[in-house]
Amino acid sequence: MTILHTGGCRCGAIIFEASADPFYTSYCHCTDCRRASGAPVAAFVGFLAEHVTFRGEASIYGKFPISRSFCATCGAPIAYRDARIEDQVFFMLGAMDHPERYPPTVHGYVSEQLPLDFCGCRSTLRRGRVMCCRMLGLLVADLQQPTGSLHF
Ligand SMILES: [Zn+2]
Ligand SMILES: [Zn+2]
Repeated sequence: MTILHTGGCRCGAIIFEASADPFYTSYCHCTDCRRASGAPVAAFVGFLAEHVTFRGEASIYGKFPISRSFCATCGAPIAYRDARIEDQVFFMLGAMDHPERYPPTVHGYVSEQLPLDFCGCRSTLRRGRVMCCRMLGLLVADLQQPTGSLHF
């Protein structure tokens, strides 16, 4: 099997690999991902489960249908799975060995997006919603047309 994609937790107790390219990369702004990650927005890389192999024993926490895995030693979040789409695994983008290879292409749950510019860079107001400039250029599902101008 050709290993194309690798990642793991901070302490190295859990590592994983995927033998095929991800089918999905995204930000998720939902409250549950925020709690689970401890960050204003979470980012994920989705693979088909049949292409994924784990080494090490991850701990699991979550409310059905979502289960989230993490390392009980170092606390790093690893992935989530959704019982409604059992054939898919979504790794935390930051758990990948080369996160720069997986730029998120979509924003999920923008209805729960925090209304502030958390990266400290300039932001712009579009149709009443503040977008971080690092997210510009990405598809935002509930934005139709830009209003106002962008400043960098
Ligand atoms: Zn660990
Ligand atoms: Zn989420």
